[in-house]
Amino acid sequence: MTKIIVDIPGEKPYDVRVESGIVSQLGETLRSFTATNHAMIITDSAVEGLYGQSVKKVLEEQGFETVLVAVPHGESAKSLEVAGEIWDAMAAIRLNRDSIIVALGGGVVGDLAGFTGSTFMRGLPIVQVPTTLLSMVDSSVGGKTAINLDAGKNLVGTFCQPRYVCADIDLLNTLPEREWICGCGEIAKSAVIDSREFFEWLNGNAKLLYERNAHVVKEAVVKCIAFKARVVVEDKAETKGVRECLNYGHTLAHAIEAAAGYGVYSHGACVAQGMRFAARLGANLVGTPLAFIAAQDELLDALALDNIEFRADPEELLRLMMSDKKVRSDSLRFVLPHDFGEWSVETVSPEIVLEHLQAWQDSLA
Ligand code: NAD
Ligand code: MG
Repeated sequence: MTKIIVDIPGEKPYDVRVESGIVSQLGETLRSFTATNHAMIITDSAVEGLYGQSVKKVLEEQGFETVLVAVPHGESAKSLEVAGEIWDAMAAIRLNRDSIIVALGGGVVGDLAGFTGSTFMRGLPIVQVPTTLLSMVDSSVGGKTAINLDAGKNLVGTFCQPRYVCADIDLLNTLPEREWICGCGEIAKSAVIDSREFFEWLNGNAKLLYERNAHVVKEAVVKCIAFKARVVVEDKAETKGVRECLNYGHTLAHAIEAAAGYGVYSHGACVAQGMRFAARLGANLVGTPLAFIAAQDELLDALALDNIEFRADPEELLRLMMSDKKVRSDSLRFVLPHDFGEWSVETVSPEIVLEHLQAWQDSLA
């Protein structure tokens, strides 16, 4: 079993375990750190049918009285309305501060369960059981929780580290192709930002990862979690300019998602496009080598993260970028790669961004 300990200053350290089949030991693991008899599993309507009852059973076998709450699947569940229903359900069964919340699902469930769990009675312990590749390599670790408002995604949330993360890669067997490739986008991002070593490993194993070779999948998950843990340990609240590296590729990604409509392209596919874009911006502004751009393009191609053929007005994309919640004082900030494992956050003028958006659009046949 592979175990990564996330030890953030000022927080209780927690384990992330990565292995095939470990969800069957979830009850015992929770028993090892809690004396409570109450658990609530929060999941979504799709994951419930696949894993809801079996996870409920492993908790019940260890004496946890377990209630399962399923929200509709998809991004729309990260709403104040659904959060309100969960808080009501928590109150109805009299969860108290010792009760455990188990988030069983992708990033949507993780964010929603994290948000409702970290606010109900000022915070219950939360256990993340990620079931998508994206949530395994990214959202289940690091303690950001959120719901969406009409005004924007993730506008209301908390920082609340989980008590334990159970990454059972067998749960990914049922994941649809699109969600698989989506997760590969965040893996590619982590590799490029982390180090040349991680990039080269991923480059050599891209085909096997795409084909879901169990050994390679596990190693990719472990490498991404170790990378994210290192970043979060240094900068848990995104105030030290370190955690921002996780936003590599995301400035354009968010604009594409908003312009095309959420869900038209997967998040990871948009991040990959954003990585291609940021690398070219880097060549213009910070001397990113052309060999880096070519190698990154090749990696993304190998992971089926194709160039997105989305036609949009560059001015409109720029406007969407400027309205992103992370934009400070009307200047656009981009994570720009200098090389593998080397990056900086740069303020880029709207004129230069517009030129590059135009170049991307012109490159579409
Ligand atoms: P998701 O949770 O919507 O899951 C995608 C789809 O896959 C859903 O329809 C779900 O029902 C289905 N699914 C999940 N597991 C499955 C399985 N094992 N088999 C079959 N189907 C399965 O999407 P996601 O990509 O996992 O997460 C996206 C969300 O994560 C966004 O809301 C984003 O804001 C959030 N996020 C949060 C953080 C963070 O640090 N908190 C980081 C990245 C993303
Ligand atoms: Mg992302």
